[in-house]
Amino acid sequence: NLNGERVCFLTPNDSSFVSCLLAVWSCGGIAVPLCSKHPPSELEYVINHSRASTVVSAVKYTTVVKFGYVFNHSLVDEVSLLCQLLCFTLLACCQYSIHVDQGHNHSLIMYTSGTTGPPKGVLFNHSNIRYQIKSLVDIWEMSSSDVLLHVLPLHHIHGFINALLCPLSINAAVVMEPSFEAGRVWKHLLGESCSNFPRVNVFMAVPTIYTKLIQYFDEHQMCVEETKKKCKDIRLMVSGSASLPLSIMQKWKSITGHTLLERYGMTEFGMGLTNPYKGKRIPGYVGLPFPNVEAKIAASQEGTSDESGELLIKSKSIFQKYWNNNKATKESFVDVGWFKTGDIAVFEDGMFRIVGRSSVDIIKSGGFKLSALDVERVLLEHDHVEEASVLGVPDDTWGQKVVAVIKLTQNSTVDDVTMTSWCREHMARYRIPREFKFVKEIPRNAMGKVNKKTLLQSIESKS
Ligand code: ATP
Ligand code: MG
Repeated sequence: NLNGERVCFLTPNDSSFVSCLLAVWSCGGIAVPLCSKHPPSELEYVINHSRASTVVSAVKYTTVVKFGYVFNHSLVDEVSLLCQLLCFTLLACCQYSIHVDQGHNHSLIMYTSGTTGPPKGVLFNHSNIRYQIKSLVDIWEMSSSDVLLHVLPLHHIHGFINALLCPLSINAAVVMEPSFEAGRVWKHLLGESCSNFPRVNVFMAVPTIYTKLIQYFDEHQMCVEETKKKCKDIRLMVSGSASLPLSIMQKWKSITGHTLLERYGMTEFGMGLTNPYKGKRIPGYVGLPFPNVEAKIAASQEGTSDESGELLIKSKSIFQKYWNNNKATKESFVDVGWFKTGDIAVFEDGMFRIVGRSSVDIIKSGGFKLSALDVERVLLEHDHVEEASVLGVPDDTWGQKVVAVIKLTQNSTVDDVTMTSWCREHMARYRIPREFKFVKEIPRNAMGKVNKKTLLQSIESKS
């Protein structure tokens, strides 16, 4: 009996992950999934921070885990095989629900994406996870006849709960790809993968994955009519974990015929807001609360007429505490049980819209307050802009200066003068970036998110 001990595990994206998880849970342990894409230093951080008693690793990752590793943890390669056997027995008996039905026992420490600082360990009990699963399954009408294509990292709430536990909990099938590869994903979406695989009908991804699929589509000059026809068998395509650019949503619709369903969530409570499964999905908006979730906007602290404010969430799915960080836990709640998301939102036309993270996306420049996400959305509409990240750089004159970091499409020669005049036509003056930095790559973390603080530092050190 593991009795609340933490077990870290590092597996390929396949059924060995499920087997490790169910093995840990059936022994009463707290699961701590690791990310195979993380460098050894980040793995070591999570292993040490969670104070894991055991690390289970697939043989192919043991060199990664051993590097810089503190040896008072035990490394158990063979467990993977044992777990696999256990998993198949459990799944065959369809006993998944029994193994997550352990009420208020602690079940999971999931680390946040580390977009705004060191990843935080988010502790859940089993019932928190059950609530998350139930509300997604209900509202997106998931059923045992679904076949979900899984291409997401498993150490994160999106790939872990939405794309894995939800379908498993209702005996739906999950096709797990070892990693994201655009060509293979297209084959699944078009129903052209080998006959061993069932026909996929649900797909969940982050905006950067949709961007890469669109690039592949263009580069391989795939046929729109055929793609639309073959994608008809798919009933749900979801985007989340970061803001979905309008240009991607429109292009995706034009090549597949599907309007992506954008939802909003966080490690700390799972999914919070969603566009409707049936009904109109509005670009740029993240919809309304999931079942069992309440959402409201905190009154603007500055007392201005500004309608935006911090999004607060109350939910039965909400985490128990930040592991090993009581101060952060205390600071994250206001009133009675309202969690402060750190995201700024507005409620317009009966729906929520995410304006950005309060820490990096709300820029105050020359007396104006603006959203970096809004500027990024417009920049991405330019034909030659492949990626854009907008920052508020400290500035003596403006307080903060709007700076756009841009990755152009291949062979494009657009410069800052062209971009500035294009911006003049498409956005209010105070939003126009005062500087454009053209880069080959915008660095992103394992979830495809930009760490703006690091990006800002790298820009400042170069200028
Ligand atoms: P860290 O907390 O370590 O800095 P993180 O906040 O990126 O990292 P996650 O819990 O994976 O870690 O991500 C939650 C955040 O992702 C939200 O707070 C929000 O900023 C962003 N997000 C998720 N979905 C959306 C969406 N649809 N639109 C805009 N932002 C989104
Ligand atoms: Mg966060």
